[in-house]
Amino acid sequence: MSNHLFDAIRAAAPGDAPFIRASGGRIWTYQDALDLSSRLASAMDTLGIRPGDRVAVQVDKSAEALILYLACIRSGAVYLPLNTAYTLAELDYFVGDAEPRLFVVSSPAREGVEKIAKAHGAIVETLDTDGTGSLLDLARDEAADFVDASRSADDLAAILYTSGTTGRSKGAMLTHGNLLSNATTLRDYWRVAAADRLIHALPIFHTHGLFVATNVTLLAGASMFLLPKFDPDEVLSLMRHATLLMGVPTFYVRLLQSPRLDRQAVANMRLFISGSAPLLAETHTEFKDRTGHAILERYGMTETNMNTSNPYAGPRIAGTVGFPLPGVTVRVTDPATGAVLPPDETGMIEVKGPNVFKGYWRMPEKTAAEFTSDGFFISGDLGKIDKDGYVHIVGRSKDLVISGGYNIYPKEVEGEIDQLDGVAESAVIGVPHPDFGEGVTAIVVRKPDAALDEKAILRALQERLARYKQPKRIIFAEDLPRNTMGKVQKNVLRQKYADLYA
Ligand code: ATP
Ligand code: MG
Repeated sequence: MSNHLFDAIRAAAPGDAPFIRASGGRIWTYQDALDLSSRLASAMDTLGIRPGDRVAVQVDKSAEALILYLACIRSGAVYLPLNTAYTLAELDYFVGDAEPRLFVVSSPAREGVEKIAKAHGAIVETLDTDGTGSLLDLARDEAADFVDASRSADDLAAILYTSGTTGRSKGAMLTHGNLLSNATTLRDYWRVAAADRLIHALPIFHTHGLFVATNVTLLAGASMFLLPKFDPDEVLSLMRHATLLMGVPTFYVRLLQSPRLDRQAVANMRLFISGSAPLLAETHTEFKDRTGHAILERYGMTETNMNTSNPYAGPRIAGTVGFPLPGVTVRVTDPATGAVLPPDETGMIEVKGPNVFKGYWRMPEKTAAEFTSDGFFISGDLGKIDKDGYVHIVGRSKDLVISGGYNIYPKEVEGEIDQLDGVAESAVIGVPHPDFGEGVTAIVVRKPDAALDEKAILRALQERLARYKQPKRIIFAEDLPRNTMGKVQKNVLRQKYADLYA
């Protein structure tokens, strides 16, 4: 019997070496994690969970929660992590859609979810950050001798819901083969080894913190500092003992705000990685100036794991997401005809490789619509591949603005606005316009006390952008709407300003 993903994790596990350094000080060795995952797998078996059953998990970040993921892989169950910010109404959708057999929540949430679980036929158990909870109680009574379920590369390991930036979250079905191939590739590409110590400050319900951070650590036999959340001061203090940080762009923006960030603070660090959203070239440059480190930006999505990465040894170019990973094919096509475009031309990014998911859970039509006839996944992201082979992301196709027959890429306009004195951030959208089809519209957040008005911004942009790209209106806002992953929700803005030019 073999278990495709877990066999590899087990083979890489260096016994008594540390795996997780929890924030309370407890160190979990690899053996500790193997033992608890075995007990948890047995407990789930006793509860009647069988291979292929979904196990939904909405708990706060802890070592035990990560080990529950391992237990699911071992038992053949399909791990289904849920964002801890989801409300009961949202949970009702996810539980109804995924029909998990078991729903693991934190104790205070138990009462609230009981009704939802019951309606959809799931049993509820608890797991808390202090190491208590009904599921852990059950696990304690089990022996650590679980026989791993047989799973092949093509069997499901997890269903991960997308971030819901462009609409309702979709369940991406990820196989053992998807996860193992991508994590192995990333480990080698980023040269992660047993001596590495990762600062893990990302959520563990999203592909970044769960699969990239955790699986890469496991397959390298490395260790991680598991933090409940990102706190710049705490991260800066840990850097003296760590070698690796994986973050979203806001981590880096916030680290740069600290006067403590300098070359000495990062003297022990080997690599800084960024992804999940675009890293501004400005952030990359400032970080390099302050620390001497070029942040390595990579690009991925829930459906595909990671697709591209800047090189470890070669130039890490700001504003690009680097090269297609080994074994992954990335191409750019004309969205209208599907024809493959030459270098430097912008179009739809399409991906093929062992990293690409099996399809959307219970959405066969949507799955079929998002794959080409020759098996490429249509990412929904627009970009180009330059002459040196670096991939550039321009933005999502849903966010492209078409005004007067011209294509306008919001990122280009936002880049110009963000450079103006007094601008904190901006979002450029297209909203219905009687003459132009869509009118380019900028939502701008000013820096505190900035005396910047609409006229001043429009005037400044006149010299910087072709006329058709210039916003018709500038609207000031206190902040931009973001989803629970911190991504700007342009669909919310488009709705809000739909009648602006009516
Ligand atoms: P939904 O699909 O539900 O609308 P989402 O696409 O935000 O939400 P995720 O799978 O978490 O859900 O995010 C993947 C997307 O994040 C990519 O398609 C891309 O648009 C963006 N992204 C990830 N990494 C980068 C990066 N380095 N640069 C630019 N964009 C990135
Ligand atoms: Mg998406």
